[in-house]
Amino acid sequence: MNSFFNDTDLQCHGAVMKEEARWIREKVMAHNKWFEESIPMIASENLMSPLAKEMLISDFADRYAEGLPGKRYYQGNVYVDEVESKAVDMAKELFDSSFADVRPISGTVANMAVLFAFAKPGDTITTCALAQGAHISTAEFGAFGQRGVNSVNYPFNTDNMNLDVDGTIKLLKEVRPKVAQFGLSVFLFPPPLKELNDTFNEIGCVVWYDAAHVLGLIAGKQFQDPLREGVNILSSSTHKTFPGPNHGLLLGSNLTEEQEKALQRAVFPGVTSSHHLHAMAALAVTLAEMKVFAKDYASQTCKNARALGQALYELGVDVLCPDLGFTRSHAIAVDVSKFGGGKDVSKDLEDANIICNKNMLPKDTSAVRPSGIRLGVQELTRVGMKESEMKEVASLIYRVAKKESPAKVKEDVKELKKGFTKIQWCFSAGEPAYGYHKLVP
Ligand SMILES: *Cc1c(COP(=O)(O)O)cnc(C)c1O
Repeated sequence: MNSFFNDTDLQCHGAVMKEEARWIREKVMAHNKWFEESIPMIASENLMSPLAKEMLISDFADRYAEGLPGKRYYQGNVYVDEVESKAVDMAKELFDSSFADVRPISGTVANMAVLFAFAKPGDTITTCALAQGAHISTAEFGAFGQRGVNSVNYPFNTDNMNLDVDGTIKLLKEVRPKVAQFGLSVFLFPPPLKELNDTFNEIGCVVWYDAAHVLGLIAGKQFQDPLREGVNILSSSTHKTFPGPNHGLLLGSNLTEEQEKALQRAVFPGVTSSHHLHAMAALAVTLAEMKVFAKDYASQTCKNARALGQALYELGVDVLCPDLGFTRSHAIAVDVSKFGGGKDVSKDLEDANIICNKNMLPKDTSAVRPSGIRLGVQELTRVGMKESEMKEVASLIYRVAKKESPAKVKEDVKELKKGFTKIQWCFSAGEPAYGYHKLVP
């Protein structure tokens, strides 16, 4: 494992590493190695490029900035301001949006900023339910509930894993929400925004799209383009299909100046103080890279997801929505009831070095014993896997589901992964994808 320090370096610096620090470092190194030898399929994760990762250990990591470029509360932000302004410009350009804020420190924090700016306690927001694949931040016990908004769920069609259009139009007209919110964590198909546009205009609601899972696909123009389909405000994480740092992003279109200011005030001082400048710089690098690589990366990601769905389906596994090609995104949902349910299957897969999560499907009532697993291919695509590897991955998953010894399957997982440990689709393509790397100064 290539790393920043070795023990000799530390001794040269006159320090002998103490037991606890050594222990922690060893655990992190063990994690690096484990993931290098694994097939990571959590749909909300990705690998940053080495150039972006380098930003995380720059001096930006140790500094503070509050407010907006040129209007800070602290000195020392000369270069920070330049990088942040550039990041805002690149985000606007890549997503063709009239507004961008790169300061939210995660997708949930971006969502909290939207709530602060556009909803007061007691206001109504329409959204999807957790069992339909929504994110915890929109739940009663998540950020929505804690902001005190009254959330109402759309009618959902489990056959096509999407909103029931007529039912949704009827609901919007009845409830007349202040904000209509869209976007999922089990995000297989684009919601029918175009069909809902007349209704949005009729009731005059703010239209909010949570793109956390699909931002990279939107950047590569391989999913719907929400800002061209009636959406006013887009919130997102920047580390799922968009392969940047753990951070957040807000984009907007057709917002009034007052609404833009309300969002900026909600970000600071509403839900952040300093905004993790190193992550902001890493986001800026990733934006520059995605201007070049988004289309090809997103296109291969979507092809891989469908290939994985097809391969599992042909093995007799119940992948959702076979008639619709399983998915239009990076992820598929699989009903593993007949193999013992999501909890057991995801644990066995972990023992075979295949990392995924159990997930509720629409029919489920229990989040701890759901019948599904969710599989994302964006990270495997990032290290160069294509359709033929998806077939191999499907067969490894199937063997575990059929109760072959996970320890035995793990050996084949490691063998397959050996050929896929280098990062692709970025300026530093070909560098090691896991842990540290030679670009570290
Ligand atoms: C992942 C996710 C988020 C935010 O996650 P963070 O970890 O806070 O970045 C928000 N909304 C949806 C739909 C998500 O899937």
